[in-house]
Amino acid sequence: MDNFEFRIIKKDKNSNARVGVIKTPHGEVSTPIFMPVGTQASVKTLSSEDLKEIRAEMILGNTYHLYLRPGHQLVEKAGGLHKFMSWDRPILTDSGGFQVFSLNSLTKTSEEGVRFQSHLDGSYHLFTPEKVIEVQHALGADIIMVLDEPVLYPCSLEQAERANKLTLNWAERCRQAHKELEDKDFKHTQALFGIIQGSTYPELRKNSAEALVKLDFPGYAIGGLSLGEPKSTTFEMVDLCVSYIPEEKPRYLMGVGTPKDMVEAICLGIDMFDCVLPTRNARNASLFTRFGKLIIKNSEYADDFSPIDPECGCSVCRNYSRAYLRHLFNTGEISALRLATIHSLYFYMDLMRMAKEAILSGNFLEWKNDFLKKYQSNQKEERNNVGNN
Ligand SMILES: [Zn+2]
Repeated sequence: MDNFEFRIIKKDKNSNARVGVIKTPHGEVSTPIFMPVGTQASVKTLSSEDLKEIRAEMILGNTYHLYLRPGHQLVEKAGGLHKFMSWDRPILTDSGGFQVFSLNSLTKTSEEGVRFQSHLDGSYHLFTPEKVIEVQHALGADIIMVLDEPVLYPCSLEQAERANKLTLNWAERCRQAHKELEDKDFKHTQALFGIIQGSTYPELRKNSAEALVKLDFPGYAIGGLSLGEPKSTTFEMVDLCVSYIPEEKPRYLMGVGTPKDMVEAICLGIDMFDCVLPTRNARNASLFTRFGKLIIKNSEYADDFSPIDPECGCSVCRNYSRAYLRHLFNTGEISALRLATIHSLYFYMDLMRMAKEAILSGNFLEWKNDFLKKYQSNQKEERNNVGNN
């Protein structure tokens, strides 16, 4: 892998937070980074130009969805995912495993792989580690992921242990398949990340992390969290996993996503995030702001001509009022979904920018406390629903 690099620019003295740069064939991105989820080669309601406008640096595509529609061969024929969706910045694709397990009640997992029925037409498919690598090579994202078997919460120790064993075996096969395909095509442009699993069992998390680190992936993801376990457990597991990942490798916390959770995870040393929350909630008229969640349909905003978030610099906050956006939602105008998405994603980008600035200027913990105080000033705990948008 010649085209991938991670450099740490600055480490916070009082926490594990850090600022870094990830170099990919489609340019450099700075971390901590939030990746908007572009499930089907599209961040819902937005164009690739919109994504640049909100300063998105890297986006995520879902292998499961793209494999089923329009099919990875078609995307490859288009010149890869970047060309297909006209996005020339970095892309990460997941392995599809999470969707296979969460969208299908009828999956059959074996050593070979996971057999599933399409949620679209009921047709049968098999995802093996080799297959998901082949699909992700055709899609051509800059960062690709190994196939893993996620477990639900709660999960028995035996079940988690079995899934861990399988996940590790699949990780090795993914690594091998990736290497073979790269060598065959003389194409060394994709970085394959390993995924640490182990449910909420510290010993399993440790085993998973240590075994994956031995395989020497260019980056590591932490999967299987924020599935309903207590928050304290989530962060305990994150902290533990991070301690086993070599410092010079990027750390990606999959599917975690409320502003509060991300700020806490940055503090523990996480570099990368993705989550459907800002986009999915926006389409449901629930907006993220510096002072917490704002339900734009509430009647109190009917004649409120102030911006969604007075401190936000996004095009929606600069040009439109809460009253107008509420009106768009109430009348079922399509633009409501788009404007709400633009604002909430911009806020997420801004959050990462603020965290980076605080780390660079040496006052991260102070900033974190101030941010959380303001953010939680008028809201109840946000539930972090991961899944498919
Ligand atoms: Zn805004």
